[in-house]
Amino acid sequence: MGDALGVPVEFSSRAARAQDPVTGMRAYGTHHQPAGTWSDDASLTFCLAEAIAEGYAVRTLANNCLRWYEHGFWTPHGRVFDIGITTREALGQLKKSSPGACPLVGGRDEMSNGNGALMRILPLAFYRPEDALLARYTRLVEASAVTHGHVRSAIACFLYLELTGYLRAGLSPAQAYAKMCEQAPTQFTELGILAKEVNHFERLLSGQLVALPESTIQSSGYVVHTLEAALWYLLRYETYAATVLAAVNLGDDTDTTGAVVGGLAGLYYGEENIPAVWVKALARRADIEDLCRRASQSIVGAGAAPAPTAPARPVPNSY
Ligand SMILES: [Mg+2]
Repeated sequence: MGDALGVPVEFSSRAARAQDPVTGMRAYGTHHQPAGTWSDDASLTFCLAEAIAEGYAVRTLANNCLRWYEHGFWTPHGRVFDIGITTREALGQLKKSSPGACPLVGGRDEMSNGNGALMRILPLAFYRPEDALLARYTRLVEASAVTHGHVRSAIACFLYLELTGYLRAGLSPAQAYAKMCEQAPTQFTELGILAKEVNHFERLLSGQLVALPESTIQSSGYVVHTLEAALWYLLRYETYAATVLAAVNLGDDTDTTGAVVGGLAGLYYGEENIPAVWVKALARRADIEDLCRRASQSIVGAGAAPAPTAPARPVPNSY
């Protein structure tokens, strides 16, 4: 939903959005698509959900991503119209490799830290969340490395999925953020993540992110910026619609910022608090619901622990 709200205004400036803010599903704009059209963010998220529906293996995820890149699998209208540079390079390499080759081909250099893995990682929140820290981390490192192989991308995915766990356990965004800040240093030590990488998340993990002025929140394609923006808007707003729209109206990488904050806000506020008119406009809604059912059945069939019961929504944030 956040992706589809952002697609028509992707790459627009913050000043342009301030003059003409997005207030709902728009048609055309940047990619000339009908209203409710989602892009690579959602397509690759669905590729991960499909892999989960099939029992989950990183090779299945990679195959699904390749199927999207080559054949338009899980596209809204049959064609790929949006793809990040690092993702294109990785999938191009995967295409040339033999079927049995290692699929962890994502760029490992520091410049390969776009938000292309973070934007598609959400379904892993539902796959074996009860596993021990190292098992959860290893799984997401591999899932990230299909397109993004640098540890910074993995750390961002890790923190994002930890947040989803806290929200699913019934914590408010403020409580979930506090818990993440409290837990992360010990978890990083346990996982052997070097301080020089952790330092890039210093502002995010300061516990003070929400106090920063909006002008310091960036909406580029850099993974740390996207995660900071997602959290800042989740903490600052009190409905699903207000949260996601405000994040989209930051401009720049609108669809991915929208997708990443939308994942957290959707978990917290619940489907019933997403505007019905947006849900109705969404491309391939019935297929998406079918995919969710299949992925969910696969997880339950594999003997996953039942999902924690969340409190009634919405609960106002303490900020
Ligand atoms: Mg996109």
